[in-house]
Amino acid sequence: MSAASVLLRRALVVGAVMLLSPVGCASTPVARTDSEQPASQDAPKPKWGLVIHGGAGVISRENLSSEREAEVRAALTQSLQAGHAVLAGGGSALDAVSAAVRILEDSPYFNAGKGAVFTHDGVNELDAAIMDGTTRKAGAVAGLRHVKNPILLARLVMEQSPHVMMVGEGAESFAKSQGVELVDPKYFYTEDRWQGLQRALEKERSRQPSSSLPSGYDPVSGDHKFGTVGAVALDQTGALAAATSTGGMTNKRYGRVGDSPIIGAGTYADARCAVSATGHGEFFIRYTVARDICARVEYQNVPLPEAADVVINDVLVKVGGEGGVIAMDREGNVAMPFNSAGMYRGYVGEDGKPVVAIFRDEAEAAGAK
Ligand code: ASP
Repeated sequence: MSAASVLLRRALVVGAVMLLSPVGCASTPVARTDSEQPASQDAPKPKWGLVIHGGAGVISRENLSSEREAEVRAALTQSLQAGHAVLAGGGSALDAVSAAVRILEDSPYFNAGKGAVFTHDGVNELDAAIMDGTTRKAGAVAGLRHVKNPILLARLVMEQSPHVMMVGEGAESFAKSQGVELVDPKYFYTEDRWQGLQRALEKERSRQPSSSLPSGYDPVSGDHKFGTVGAVALDQTGALAAATSTGGMTNKRYGRVGDSPIIGAGTYADARCAVSATGHGEFFIRYTVARDICARVEYQNVPLPEAADVVINDVLVKVGGEGGVIAMDREGNVAMPFNSAGMYRGYVGEDGKPVVAIFRDEAEAAGAK
């Protein structure tokens, strides 16, 4: 096994960090002169690649059947392959993250698109965002009930409108005007997610007899598995992009919107850093997690893996914010820290060999030391 693959496997295992650039480059300070530009033609070629997540949370071997585990791994692999095909063909990071996220949206196993969780009222409300690190253009949508692939609509908001964010009926009117595929809300029904809502409602009822907003209202009281999907990519030109798509949190109500479509919270990309998050959105919004990681890289000259690790495993842990991120910098350094029991995650580099992981302890399983 090459040194790079060993590093990759280690990163997947501990959910912490990995370096795709030669190890010696890992802590090399990033030049500050071309702050808003991708790596110049003369610079060494970046290690292009794609990193994805399918959500963090209470994911352990005890609560994941081997059949489900195999299906999740297959879907993550398919997503990595789709993104890799784009990048290998010289396609953009934006196209790669769109392709990777779309596949996860179409899978019933993740909390986005087809597998979205239910709101308190028994419907599905979808949020998504995408950001182009080179131009800092961004598109975001929230509260969708009929759009099959919210990430595609987020991209159209970015590319075909003067706006950054559209919500609810307005966003769906825009979807119609753009010819985006709309589906009957029944499309989003999955038995698993419906049962998740029933458990959350039951928990809420046993805690709070009142049907008005309970003082201890906690939308995460479903399965404590987040399941949002996301991707970050670095393409052959050195451009970065990030994308995130979600059904939000089980039992959410009153039009609640989480961090995923909030630029700088759950999704962010600039010329040197791209981040997609999953976790308890209210914390990720209040701590502007995605931007905080990239700001540390920019202002403190901190290597990306260190910046991501501090925000997830120190800043968020101290305040009880559960979740994780995937992140890439323009040199191809990757970080995948999470502070939950597990996180669906994976990476593919130039060699086109997808690697996926779920549990915290996968180092041993993968044979890495
Ligand atoms: N972060 C998402 C939200 O709060 C949930 C998730 O990651 O699954 O809406």
